[in-house]
Amino acid sequence: MSIHNSRRRAIEAIASRPAPVATVDYAKEPVSKLFGENVFSISVMRAVLPKEVYKRLVRTMQNGQPLDPSIADTVANAMKDWAISRGATHYTHWFHPMTGLTAEKHDSFLVPTDDGQAISEFSGKTLIKGEPDASSFPSGGIRSTFEARGYTAWDPTSPAFLVDGVNGKTLCIPTAFCSYTGEALDKKTPLLRSIEALNKQAMRVLRLFGNQAAGRVTTTIGPEQEYFLMDRNFYLLRPDLINAGRTLFGAKPPKGQEMEDHYFGSIKDRVLAFMMDAERELYKLGIPIKTRHNEVAPAQFEIAPVFEQSNVATDHNMLVMEVLRSTAEKHGLVCLLHEKPFAGINGSGKHINWSMADDLGNNLLEPGHTPHDNAQFLVFLTAVIRAINKFGKLMRAAIATAGNDHRLGANEAPPAIISVYLGDKLMEVVKGLIAGKKEPGRSGGVLQIGVSALPPLPKDDSDRNRTSPFAFTGNKFEFRAVGSSQSIARPNTVLNTIVAESLDFMTTEIEKAINAGNDLNSAVQKLVQAQLSENERILFNGDNYSAEWHSEAERRGLPNLKTVINAAPVLLDDDSRALFKMYGIYGKEELESRYTVLLENYCKTINIEALLCSNIVRTMILPAALQYQHQVAASIASTRAALKDADMSAHEKLLKEINSKVAALKIASDSLDNIRAKADSNGHDPLHHAKYYQSEVIRAMHEVRASADELETMIDDELWPLPKYREMLYIY
Ligand code: ADP
Ligand code: MG
Repeated sequence: MSIHNSRRRAIEAIASRPAPVATVDYAKEPVSKLFGENVFSISVMRAVLPKEVYKRLVRTMQNGQPLDPSIADTVANAMKDWAISRGATHYTHWFHPMTGLTAEKHDSFLVPTDDGQAISEFSGKTLIKGEPDASSFPSGGIRSTFEARGYTAWDPTSPAFLVDGVNGKTLCIPTAFCSYTGEALDKKTPLLRSIEALNKQAMRVLRLFGNQAAGRVTTTIGPEQEYFLMDRNFYLLRPDLINAGRTLFGAKPPKGQEMEDHYFGSIKDRVLAFMMDAERELYKLGIPIKTRHNEVAPAQFEIAPVFEQSNVATDHNMLVMEVLRSTAEKHGLVCLLHEKPFAGINGSGKHINWSMADDLGNNLLEPGHTPHDNAQFLVFLTAVIRAINKFGKLMRAAIATAGNDHRLGANEAPPAIISVYLGDKLMEVVKGLIAGKKEPGRSGGVLQIGVSALPPLPKDDSDRNRTSPFAFTGNKFEFRAVGSSQSIARPNTVLNTIVAESLDFMTTEIEKAINAGNDLNSAVQKLVQAQLSENERILFNGDNYSAEWHSEAERRGLPNLKTVINAAPVLLDDDSRALFKMYGIYGKEELESRYTVLLENYCKTINIEALLCSNIVRTMILPAALQYQHQVAASIASTRAALKDADMSAHEKLLKEINSKVAALKIASDSLDNIRAKADSNGHDPLHHAKYYQSEVIRAMHEVRASADELETMIDDELWPLPKYREMLYIY
């Protein structure tokens, strides 16, 4: 049976798939009823906990206070009873190791008794702390395997939830994950620290403005998640998608996205059935999904929730990715979360909308109605602008992954140059403040902070700039350069920390000025003006995709860190080290471990791709090409006509070419051993290794692909072994 038959069989299977049937009647079972049914939420706690315990727990959750151990047993017991009554058999501490995924180790509630029976048990101690073996998680050198004990510690600021399995439920308890010696081995711990750092500094600003009512500031996040869907029948025929998450081969399809007929188009029945099923699971988990639509590329889609407190939003985004994957499978589909599954077609990102809010629900990036509110707004706004200018490189490092390297700057995502977009109205205000005038070029006096009001700012500029990596969209910033598959913990941690640093700086300056006898408003006016002017180079309202911006940015001295190789070392800059140390986010070892894990991950990714690349060429593409050659040669011989003579020689040339290119790729991968040895003598700097992958191996893979894609357009369609772009992107 030829390989082609499996491609045809896949198409036949898709064509004969029965239409999706309704499984839910939302008229009988409204969404509002099922929302949060799998969450040990505040309302469940109120119902099942003694009043005093409930109050103390809520205080812990809302104020980030440590949990009182004396109530832990009561909470654990209530949580267990609730979980079991809803069909749970097991519990797990659920955490975010540096793999970028989530991890779980299930334990049963079951405890055998002396008399040969069993009871279910769950103690406060087990709720608060777990001790999973940490040896097989990446640690970036923090600990060696002989001291591999790790700790998970309950994070009561994110609620416990039940995960539905086919044959029962599991209680998941969000936890932080640390080494025996206390270093964070996960993504949650630094995030929680950064939320705390920002809280502290933002509260200083609120107090400065006389606000005694607010007790706490948190950051809010609304992540918009992009993804591709593909029929599973095709997916299973693509070893590259299965093992690397992206296609390493595939000629450009005759129809790409040029018709622009997918974006916001009507959603196919099959896809809509999948989406509603996924949303249903997410509602049960208390995740407030709001938006769904077709994205720009064929077979690309987006899902977005209403924003939440950023720790919860981060946990929820991990669950969104997980539920998309598992629900797709139930529908005979596959959800691709990679940043660039198909070359030449738009990739996927994850816009993270970010703001700060106090515990009374006030959004601190909301321009106010009174001069007093506006003065405070301008302090927060200026702090963010200063932070992005001062630490733009760290923002770039926070989104550095092998996958995102394919996307940034590829005309579908902002370039690696970090800049801030403010919109025309706010830009005018900022320019006016810098120049000491209300509106440049117009009459009207100086915009006096604390006295005059800001001009009304449109909430959603109709002509929004979609090319900016970091855009102000009315009352929040939108970080658009984040990769679709990455955890949002790292970019969020960086953002919180750099803004905390700026708020610290600004508050300290204002306090100094006040102590020197100035009033608040004039102190703010002077500082805001000076800081906006000092950091003006980061502001850019134009087209970030244009070539002019690249040269303009260079003139402004804005860094353009194009790949992981350029971005990773930023983590170990003196500035970064000092920043993270100052606010207690990453200690020395913790920061170095992030750097190591990032580069190791990069090398492993490219290495897997290189192996897949030569493997697929040798075992799938070359055999097909040879068979084709044989076929054509036979037919030429039998008809004695120069039937496809021209084709034949081009084909032969390509065959020779691809053979030598695969050999070159092998040489490139093989010489890695030398590089490794050299890197070792260079004191284990993983950067040497990564640089080699980037300069030699990736280039060799590009070469192989170019020939393979050309072969695809030439060889008899009957013989081509891999599902083609025109099939994967359109037949589902
Ligand atoms: P877009 O027009 O960019 O597609 P929307 O304006 O609909 O997006 O909002 C996108 C996301 O921004 C949503 O998840 C929304 O909840 C979130 N968002 C809105 N306000 C805030 C805020 N104050 N903080 C964080 N995220 C927010
Ligand atoms: Mg958006």
